[in-house]
Parts: sequence; structure tokens; C-alpha cells
Amino acid sequence: MTAGNVVVLIETTTDGTPKSTAASLLGAAAQVGTPVAVVVAAPGGAGQALASRLGELGAVHVYMAESEAAAAELGTAQVGALADAARAYGAQVALLPATNDSKAVAGRLAIVANGAIAADAVGVRWDAEGQEVIAVHAVFGGDFTTESTVEGGLMIVTVRPGSVDARAEAVASPEVRTAPVATAAGPGARIDAATDAPAATGRPVLRGAKAVVSGGRGVGSKENFEIVEQLADALGAAVGASRAAVDAGYVPQHYQVGQTGISVTPDLYVALGISGAIQHRSGMQTSKTIVAINKDEDAPIFEIADFGIVGDLFTVVPQLVEEINARRG
Ligand code: FAD
Repeated sequence: MTAGNVVVLIETTTDGTPKSTAASLLGAAAQVGTPVAVVVAAPGGAGQALASRLGELGAVHVYMAESEAAAAELGTAQVGALADAARAYGAQVALLPATNDSKAVAGRLAIVANGAIAADAVGVRWDAEGQEVIAVHAVFGGDFTTESTVEGGLMIVTVRPGSVDARAEAVASPEVRTAPVATAAGPGARIDAATDAPAATGRPVLRGAKAVVSGGRGVGSKENFEIVEQLADALGAAVGASRAAVDAGYVPQHYQVGQTGISVTPDLYVALGISGAIQHRSGMQTSKTIVAINKDEDAPIFEIADFGIVGDLFTVVPQLVEEINARRG
């Protein structure tokens, strides 16, 4: 059973290295077919080093699409490149990360390539008969799992970052093709300037992090949020927050986990002073292990927690940090 070639959109940083979503997307592609990494760059902008890196992550083919528009317009070159690559490799399935930029690319690709979207998947697999590729979705805050497929046309799947653990086998020498973007995708929003968000904290980036410690309204103030950061640093985790914590000004909006924030699927999610409203849960309920610390034993977060501590976070967390640091030596 194979979907043949599966085109995978690789997001890159401004210095041209693959973003962290690449490994799990190529891993997901390998579960249903042969991964074709699609990279967009200005002419001459992508090189052998990038191709080798994508081979290490499991790309059997690397399609380098060159376009002057790559740095000038948002998503236009990516739409054209994926349509070109799908045609060149006869692909029936395209995988994109479910990030803001690539979700917009997916929508436009569906029009240009006459396909349909399976949005925000947490995995892909074959159906039992080996006839169709199925996208798996965690919906209603992760309470239900649904499946979707596309009949006819390109199946365009946006995959939630961090949700696929599978990794493809490394490929020593991926086949590399370089071609100018041929398919026109209409005008896109103009890019005046692009910079990568500074990793000022030295902590992992929230989206795709393996461990996340989030604080809620129960943390009480901006100053108190330090306690969330201390536990995150002890665990090597990213820092997140509930919307109430963001609205109260404890942390900036890009920390927000949930329906109107970032969806995360870490191995470990620790919720401090978070009640567990459905809108928060929808962004973290697919985490593999959930730990909640809350002084209200009836807080809904305990319904989904694997481990729960009923207590004051200002008493529990310092002890936790001390113990973790002591064990680490
Ligand atoms: P609260 O619900 O006020 O809970 C605070 C918790 O802290 C309580 O359970 C309390 O017992 C506990 N606590 C207090 N002091 C301590 C202490 N010292 N030690 C231990 N525990 C303590 N929310 C999101 O998070 N993300 C979203 O993306 C999001 N999107 C939304 C979209 C819409 C359309 C709407 C309507 C709402 C959305 N919300 C979102 C808001 C959501 O409904 C909740 O209001 C919010 O998640 C509550 O945040 P909280 O748990 O931090 O605060």
C-alpha cells in the first residue's frame, strides 16, 4: 500500500534552514508513501546543505522551487511550487504544517490544484482496505477522534505541529530537482520585511515543544509568572498560558494555548492555576501526559489530567523545582 509520492511543504527560517515542523511532516508522509520535500527559495537560494538536511529527515526527493516572489509575497510561490511538484511527481497527497502561513497556502492550493483540504490533522494512515489515505483529527477539545478523506483530486492535509511522532528513515542522497515556479497562484499579500522571532529566552519554542508548562489566572500577576518559568526551565520546557493570563497582561498573546491560541501536543503538559475551560483544552488535550496543579479539586482540568495535585501552586511548584533540580544533581 502506498500513496506513491507525497509532497511535503517545508517551511524554512529566514536563513534557509528547515523549521521544526519538517521532521514530523516527513515522518507522516513516510507512513503513507514516499516523501517529496518541497522547498521554496529565491533563485540560487537553496543549496546542497539544505537537501542533505532534508535527506537526514527522510526526504527521498527534494524539489527546490525557485521564485523571485518567494521573499516578496506571502505564500504565492509556495502554492505554485506545491502544484508544480504534485504534478511532476504524480502525487495524490500533499502535507503542510497547520501553521498560520501554511494554512493559507493550503486553501489557495486547493483552488489552484483542484484539491480538497483535510484540516488540522493529528495523523495520516491508510484505510483497512488500503484504498484511501485517511486523515485523523482530534476535535471538540480532543474528546472525539474523527477521520476524513478526499475522493478525487489532490488531498491536502494540514498537520498540527508536534502531533506526529513517527520519523522517516534518513536518506543518504536524496534526488534533487531544481525548477522555477511555473504555476501562477494569483497575487499574495506583499512582504515588506521578514525576521524570525528572536529566541530571547533560550527556551524551546511553544509550537512543537516536547514539554510545556502553562500558567493561568491562578498565577495572579505578571511578577508571579516567574514561578511558571522556573518550573519550565527545570524541565527544559516551553512556557504557555491560558487566555485569562494573557488578557490579564501576565504574558504576551503569543504564549496563549487554546482555541484562539496555539495548539500543542507535547509529551508533557503542566497546567498551573488553569481551570481547564473547553477553549483551553482544545489546544492541549492531545498532550501525551497532562499534569495539573490547582487548588480547586473540582476544576475541570482534573478530568483530563493524568496526574493532578490539589494544592496552592505557590507551595507545590517551589518544592517540585527543588526536587527536579536535586535529582538532576
Ligand atoms: P480561570 O478559569 O479563572 O481559572 C483559574 C484557576 O486557577 C481556577 O481553577 C483556580 O482554582 C486556580 N487557582 C487560583 N489560585 C490558585 C493557586 N494559588 N494555586 C493553584 N490554583 C489556583 N482560553 C484559553 O486558555 N485559550 C484560548 O485559546 C481561549 N479561547 C477562547 C475563545 C473564545 C471564543 C472564548 C469565549 C473563550 C476563550 N478562552 C480561551 C477563555 C476560556 O473560556 C477561559 O476563560 C480561560 O481559559 C480561563 O483561564 P484560566 O483557567 O487561567 O482562568
